[in-house]
Amino acid sequence: MPTRRDFFATSALGLGALPALSATAAASGASGASISQQLAKTDPVAARLYETIRTMPVDDTHCHPISDRDRVMTRDSFIERIALPAFPGPNYFPEGVYDKWHAGDERTRADLDKRYQVGKKLATINNHFAESVFTKFMVKEMASFLGCEPRFEAVMEARNAHQKNYYGYVNSLFRDTNIENAMIDTGYADGLDAAGVRKFSDAIKPTRTRLIARVETIQDDLLKQKLSFPEMRDAFLKRVRDALDGTGNFGDRSYGMKSYLLPAVGVIKPVYDEAAAAKSYEELRAAEAKPFADREVQARQGKTFLEYTLTLALEECLARDMPMQFHAGDGEAPSVILRNQQPYYLEEFVRFDRDGMMRMPKIIPIHAGYPLVSEAAWLSHLYTNCYFELSLMTPFIHQGLVRRYLEIMEAVPLSKILFGSDAYHLPELYWLAARWGKRFLTQALAVYVTEGILSEEEALEGARMILYKNNRAVYNLK
Ligand SMILES: [Zn+2]
Repeated sequence: MPTRRDFFATSALGLGALPALSATAAASGASGASISQQLAKTDPVAARLYETIRTMPVDDTHCHPISDRDRVMTRDSFIERIALPAFPGPNYFPEGVYDKWHAGDERTRADLDKRYQVGKKLATINNHFAESVFTKFMVKEMASFLGCEPRFEAVMEARNAHQKNYYGYVNSLFRDTNIENAMIDTGYADGLDAAGVRKFSDAIKPTRTRLIARVETIQDDLLKQKLSFPEMRDAFLKRVRDALDGTGNFGDRSYGMKSYLLPAVGVIKPVYDEAAAAKSYEELRAAEAKPFADREVQARQGKTFLEYTLTLALEECLARDMPMQFHAGDGEAPSVILRNQQPYYLEEFVRFDRDGMMRMPKIIPIHAGYPLVSEAAWLSHLYTNCYFELSLMTPFIHQGLVRRYLEIMEAVPLSKILFGSDAYHLPELYWLAARWGKRFLTQALAVYVTEGILSEEEALEGARMILYKNNRAVYNLK
């Protein structure tokens, strides 16, 4: 395994062969040299395309701010922060048990283990995740960047060596992959406040962060205030407008919004009927006082009211030509209902009919609708205002991305596919997504070039669109 120093050396030697690269572009993508070597062995067309694609800018259309709490990590703590089945740990036990176990002394842990098998359950999750191809591949990739042996423990040790300048390390991951814009969904901010989000934004400069406002963040805060329906409606609208135009989103303006309603309730439709929304709001408030019901019943309480506020928010986006991201596919088990997340369930919001007219706001179903990738792709094929976004699937299905990117490109115009990572907690998710996104997109495009379906120039322009140009067009970035 070559070290990071070797990559810089190889890259520096190769620079003369890359004309017209700016100093920044040349510095970024340096560790892509290992991918170049790999592709040269297996696919010369991909290897040639990759020499241009590896230094391209990347816009991440859906991602989250990174705190500095993960400066020092072990194998288990790293897995607990990155693995989708691991980080909802508290949800697997009665309320408070997980935190008590983590904070507790040996005796407390032993008591809780006897009753709930906390340690055993968490260890099972971690051990299985450690045996995933994703993890084995990630360890090699991180080792190449950090210049250490490709073992999980060695990688953690090399990573921990950066603890004193953790945000410097974070910044180096952004420079290596040349991420120019990050569209940050503040609806999940890992506990950061406005100052914390700003600190992260400053740390990753010259990457520019732009904020996306989550409908539920605004709504849930107001629900705590026990307002009457008219007060709720007016306060919600005021906050949405302030988040979009003023400083209402963590002290800044927003470039679009995100909705998390789909996984809660399944099929969703626009609601314009105020009386029905008010009735549903009263039912929601009455339900709050009742004990826990079936989780499906509970998730649907206040459905009409929630569709109504989403409708109000989407009207505001439409008026400003801003997109709305919709969570689709994926699924943060065990807290959401997996069967509710089908991309087709968004169709009525994609249409956004009113008074016999389809108004077609910009809609971005996110997470590739994974695993229902072709359903999300076909929705985007049929409705011109509906985009396709790659996050979470990128990077989590690693080499499977070649097949998935081909599946998407068979149906979605190249001008509507948006790169995204859904990076949360760990900065390596930004890096892996951009690194693997470039690599496996290159390999997918190379299939078309080899078959004579796209010219090399068309393939490269497709990569530019997917990696950054489409993001700039959909959000009207200058
Ligand atoms: Zn997300």
